[in-house]
Amino acid sequence: MLILWLSVFTMSSNVLGQENYTHRRKQMVETQIKARGIQDYATLYALLNVPRHEFVPRDIRAFAYNDSPLPIGKRQTISQPFIVGFMTQALRLKSDYKVLEIGTGSGYQAAILAKVVDSVYTIEIVSELAQEAEKRLSRLGYSNVVVRDGDGYNGWPNQAPFDAIMVTAGAPYIPQPLIDQLKIGGRMIIPVGPHNGVRQLVLVIKRKNKIVKKELMAVRFVPFTRKNPQ
Ligand code: SAH
Repeated sequence: MLILWLSVFTMSSNVLGQENYTHRRKQMVETQIKARGIQDYATLYALLNVPRHEFVPRDIRAFAYNDSPLPIGKRQTISQPFIVGFMTQALRLKSDYKVLEIGTGSGYQAAILAKVVDSVYTIEIVSELAQEAEKRLSRLGYSNVVVRDGDGYNGWPNQAPFDAIMVTAGAPYIPQPLIDQLKIGGRMIIPVGPHNGVRQLVLVIKRKNKIVKKELMAVRFVPFTRKNPQ
């Protein structure tokens, strides 16, 4: 009897827990995302449907829908929800796109992209994070994301070209291989600026004969690091 009661109790507390997260996610989209001008339908849909609490360490799940970045271990962070929404919208994604992300981290941004486009390729330089993200994404059913452990500076040559590229670590300059791997007409978004300082979120549009760059806003990001740079 006690066992039955206990299992009913745990079941109902799980259900309540899920509803609670769904409610918090709706609130996050209303107050942090829509209220700040993000209108792209696919971006809003993704933010509403990706369970952000699954991408943060268990002990800080209660803060998953807060208006802030959060630590994910290995001195890295999951970006603030608004920044995720802003960067996703800025790429003007279409459903048939193939997108490259540099800086998988928790896999949250990759999951958001995976809700919007056909295929996502994502590279993470910290092996443990790459492995955890890969497991998490497959457990949650994101079958259109491929995770690779490595230095994203050189992009993913044998999957190039990409319709869009998102870099989620702050780089001192825009890596040329990433520009090369962007399709003509493609967009890349990347935080650029000095190490540990405030950086500019730069939108790069690759035209036939020129590269157009626009500074969108000041941001803080963990640094883009290198493995055996040549
Ligand atoms: N997009 C992530 C947040 C990433 S934080 C999320 O949704 O959780 C930035 C990540 O970029 C960190 O995990 C860091 O290890 C990674 N990174 C830094 N330099 C990199 C590089 N050269 N190649 C690939 N990943 C890199």
